Amino acid sequence: MGLWEKKLRRLDGGRSRCPYCGLPQDRVATLEQEWVSLEPDMRPPAHQVPAGHRWIELSDGRVTVYGVCPPDQFQRCRIEHRLACPAQPLPDLWPWLTSLRGENARQVERQSDPEPPPPPEKWPDAG
Ligand SMILES: [Zn+2]
Repeated sequence: MGLWEKKLRRLDGGRSRCPYCGLPQDRVATLEQEWVSLEPDMRPPAHQVPAGHRWIELSDGRVTVYGVCPPDQFQRCRIEHRLACPAQPLPDLWPWLTSLRGENARQVERQSDPEPPPPPEKWPDAG
């Protein structure tokens, strides 16, 4: 790929406005030939972002999901605007926590018909 083509590819992206909240977002090509809208000017440490939502920039300007786990301590990443968008529901960032909550909800349901509490323990007469 020549330099000119690289430049052209970069120009394909660029800043646009979120159709939901109207704030600016960066439209960036992914390694998988798709597009992703990233939060502009924001590069948090990768370990502070849930796995699967850490986008890293490649030398040709495209981005891909950072696959190193646990992440390198100094690795920075980008995040999708939809995670920060005030007008869109937050996706399921921690699936294992969501399933744990579901499991706990079922546990609460099973306890809806509780057994009577055990009688208070009687202390033996002192003295
Ligand atoms: Zn938005």
